[in-house]
Amino acid sequence: SPRYRVTVIGSGNWGSVAARVIASNTLKMPNFHHDVRIWVYEEILPNGEKLSKTINEANENVKYLPGIKLGKNVIADPDLDNAVKEANMLVFVTPHQFVSGICKRLIGKIKPDTEAISLIKGMEVKTEGPCMISKLITDMLGINCCVLMGANIANEIAVEKFSEATIGYRQNKEVADQWAKLFCTPYFLVSVVQDVEGVELCGTLKNVVAIAAGLVDGMDMGNNTKAAIMRIGLREMRALSKLLFSSVKDSTFFESCGVADLITTCLGGRNRKVAEAFARSGGKRSFDQLEAEILQGQKLQGVSTAKEVYEILSHRGWQSMFPLFTTVHEICIGQLPPLAIVEYSEQIANIS
Ligand code: NAD
Ligand code: 13P
Repeated sequence: SPRYRVTVIGSGNWGSVAARVIASNTLKMPNFHHDVRIWVYEEILPNGEKLSKTINEANENVKYLPGIKLGKNVIADPDLDNAVKEANMLVFVTPHQFVSGICKRLIGKIKPDTEAISLIKGMEVKTEGPCMISKLITDMLGINCCVLMGANIANEIAVEKFSEATIGYRQNKEVADQWAKLFCTPYFLVSVVQDVEGVELCGTLKNVVAIAAGLVDGMDMGNNTKAAIMRIGLREMRALSKLLFSSVKDSTFFESCGVADLITTCLGGRNRKVAEAFARSGGKRSFDQLEAEILQGQKLQGVSTAKEVYEILSHRGWQSMFPLFTTVHEICIGQLPPLAIVEYSEQIANIS
């Protein structure tokens, strides 16, 4: 009988698409149970119906991924304990700020020998320093955790437009290859690299650069400026990643999780979009207000990541080495005007 049973924890925009991709594959793989459970953070829709019930009846996440059928073998479950009870492969895909709360509820509820993968772009900052989300999952639940990151705007993968992704693993390549099989389709090509921190930091830090890119869009600064911001941002991504984890490889920045995700997010992502609106308001509207208004329940990761990065930089006295990351946070909290994003050329010249 099939050995593996997959549960997806999180049913937002990317969570729903990830479940759809996985569910198309479990149907074809004899060692997998066909059904894919997806844990839904329950909410009541404007028509009074529960989101989880609607997903199961319509086979569609009408709030976070309208218009896309998920596959009949995707089963929405609002009960977290029940959703993980039988699973031995867990896919974590919620906004990063909710992960530690979810893991707390999962302690003692996970089957032994469970493997996890995180699709979450973010980190937590603890007193002892940064803790990547995959590490948080491993530490709290005692399970191995790979990561999958890439140039993956969910709405595009939902309609099966070709894209790529990168899985990062720590030690066990066989497990990483098993995850790659679960995600790979002809329109979604997944490669595997032994650099879990590098892959996860790429996915996390590019969201800060995307805020900067949105700011320059909102000030109509043009393509050269935006390219400069992306270049400076990529350098800061690499420099900070290597300072935090000396094992991070240069080659990881050339995978989908690196430069490709940076490009797609700076062109078409939600962080970019909301930052553009923020700059157009002259910094007068808050990111929180604009996020709620523009994203309708979907969540930004870049603003909180900028704050988390700022805490790391200020704690270690590294701010002057990371002018873009530092400035993004100071703009987000209203300490500097949006224009400040291009007003540190002297600092850039000094570190280049
Ligand atoms: P999303 O932005 O659509 O977030 C909304 C989700 O958060 C909903 O499922 C909502 O129910 C849930 N939620 C709200 N309050 C909650 C709470 N208190 N506790 C638990 N859950 C709560 O989510 P997403 O797009 O699936 O993003 C998840 C992760 O995937 C993020 O780290 C994101 O950066 C990453 N990611 C997203 C995309 C994309 O295109 N959407 C692509 C790649 C990676
Ligand atoms: P946004 O959260 O900015 O939309 O980025 C999505 C993403 O991570 C694409 O890979």
